[in-house]
Amino acid sequence: MDTLFYAPIEDFEDNHWVELKGQEAQHISKVLRKQVGSEIRVANGRGEIYFCEITEINRHLVVAKCGTSTTKPEPSFKKTLAFGAIKKRDRLEFAIEKAVELGVWEICLFNSDHTERPKINRDRLHTLIVSAFKQSGRYWLPELVILDSMDEVLEHYKGAGWIMAHEKADSTSKAGKLTKKNNVLFVGPEGGFSEREVELIKKRKGEIVSLGVNRLRAETAVTALLSQYLF
Ligand code: SAH
Repeated sequence: MDTLFYAPIEDFEDNHWVELKGQEAQHISKVLRKQVGSEIRVANGRGEIYFCEITEINRHLVVAKCGTSTTKPEPSFKKTLAFGAIKKRDRLEFAIEKAVELGVWEICLFNSDHTERPKINRDRLHTLIVSAFKQSGRYWLPELVILDSMDEVLEHYKGAGWIMAHEKADSTSKAGKLTKKNNVLFVGPEGGFSEREVELIKKRKGEIVSLGVNRLRAETAVTALLSQYLF
């Protein structure tokens, strides 16, 4: 009963039935060998987790009847990680997985001025996000947004609070409390942010924060920054 599954909201019918497909169906039928009558928990990624009973099962499709559900409201302070894309795939994936566990609302990957344009496989990243979402028992599935520059990020999240981790910030500039409903937390790529990008944040009265005196790798900086805003 402990494993949590995910189905997008369009695969739920009136909150009464849910269809699980693809890898989820395969996992339930082949790996866990569930049967008609078995109970599973299914998250819709939009704040609800249902207790369901399987009524039909094969390796491509599992149909389950939804019973009671537990819900979680949207958080009062939303954190979007805006991450200057990094080239090393394993490091990028590590950062994204940890960001989901640490409670980001949304993940925005963008080509920062110093990004060495990586190839981004959206489907692979989506699968990774879903798996971290289930593993950490979250109710809201973070969305993945891919943008081309910091300018686009600023436009896309207009009105948000801006926080930028910058290795040149004075080490006394510690992360404060979130005060806005929507907050965008920036971490730069291997090459760091350009002066231009730092200025864009300063101009919008964003906070430039330090993560200590050591220079961190980008993926470490992601976990260090998000850990400051857990509660
Ligand atoms: N430009 C740097 C390294 C960038 S590290 C250089 O090569 O010299 C990648 C990103 O991690 C930075 O853009 C910043 O967002 C974050 N970061 C790393 N160390 C940090 C620190 N001590 N304080 C704040 N942010 C840090």
